[in-house]
Amino acid sequence: MTLLVRKYGGTSVGTIERIEAVAEKVIGYKQRGHDLVVVVSAMSGETNRLTALAKEIDPRVRGRELDVLLTTGEQVTIALLAIALEKRGYPAKSYTGGQVKIVTDTAHNKARIVSIDAGNVRKDLHEGRIVVVAGFQGVDEEGNITTLGRGGSDTTGVALAAALDADECQIFTDVDGVYTTDPRVVAEARRLDKITFEEMLEMASLGSKVLQIRAGEFAGKYDVPLRVLSSFEEGEGTLITSEINEDDSVEQAVISGIAFNRDEAQLTINGVPDTPGIAFKILGPISDANIEVDMIVQNIGADGSTTDFTFTVHRNDYDLAMTLLQRIAEELGAREVAGNNKIIKLSIVGVGMRSHAGIASRMFEILANEGINICMISTSEIKISVVIDEKYLELGVRALHDGFDLADEEEE
Ligand code: ADP
Ligand code: ASP
Ligand code: MG
Repeated sequence: MTLLVRKYGGTSVGTIERIEAVAEKVIGYKQRGHDLVVVVSAMSGETNRLTALAKEIDPRVRGRELDVLLTTGEQVTIALLAIALEKRGYPAKSYTGGQVKIVTDTAHNKARIVSIDAGNVRKDLHEGRIVVVAGFQGVDEEGNITTLGRGGSDTTGVALAAALDADECQIFTDVDGVYTTDPRVVAEARRLDKITFEEMLEMASLGSKVLQIRAGEFAGKYDVPLRVLSSFEEGEGTLITSEINEDDSVEQAVISGIAFNRDEAQLTINGVPDTPGIAFKILGPISDANIEVDMIVQNIGADGSTTDFTFTVHRNDYDLAMTLLQRIAEELGAREVAGNNKIIKLSIVGVGMRSHAGIASRMFEILANEGINICMISTSEIKISVVIDEKYLELGVRALHDGFDLADEEEE
């Protein structure tokens, strides 16, 4: 007998018909004698709808009460799915995150799971029930409701699979696996049979929302066998695994995928006196305001005594970061402050990059051939990211996908 944790995303439970279809699929598996824990998201659009309601009252809403509100979305779908299962004669039981108990830290809106007491779930499984758990939520030590950040149901699924030592965690979504890039942007994108945790994590953190970053982190850390599949079509999906062995070398391309992030904004402070501690003086107040900084570039100024400093933040933080930077510029006697919130980050990812020189220059050549100007560059062992104007997003992704032959079947 196997134990599977299956997570169904918002589109997969977006209507009553779809919830009933999920129930049928789950029952099919149960009939083959296996145990199932099903994690569900809110119906598609629901989390956005609830957020918009709260924002009508307070556009800057965050924290505890927002979590109380947002978790209701998943509470609806667990109950509906359990009702659909019971109607078909299959004993089922729904659980909110707090009821499981999924305990998190206190960071409302982006909490991290600290522990899971899956005793109740185990008991239900043992007694033959299908267990349905609300994704994206938990409670802190004090019992306050928390959420795990957008896309967090993936993490609930993986964390439960780890806690229950499940045979596989299956993420059912509206595409049939992980592709070389978002198939909604590049129609020729190719589905990968396998991808390493390391690459998946990098793709997720660079903007591919097919899997939440923390789900990848969790799966890697606890070695949870993880698969991304379609809710609507049959297929093997994409296996996310720690090692891709020699026999699978067909998958070991230099570049595995292209990710992009539309949520970026860039800020620059020009003509800052080039003295020790300058980076701290600029970024200290930004981090004190809880604004996360992504890429950072400091140039040597032409005159030798001043420098220019550029960094990127989430687009939602742009206005606040700009206000802070203007104040910092005045204090430091800097020449000027500039900004651009119409930029995106485009990245190529692949473990094969480690052993291949010249990938960066090839990337820059491909973009140059399309007349795309690069504003910033950042590299690591397995990725190269550039910041470009948002109007070039689709052109850039397609050109790189083409230029690195990602659509082709692999050569030997
Ligand atoms: P769910 O609601 O099921 O959690 P999401 O919308 O969060 O689904 O994630 C699935 C979406 O991720 C796809 O519809 C696709 O547009 C997007 N996506 C981005 N990058 C990729 C990629 N490399 N491979 C597959 N899908 C991707
Ligand atoms: N419903 C939440 C969201 O839309 C969590 C999830 O779907 O994973 O972000
Ligand atoms: Mg998702």
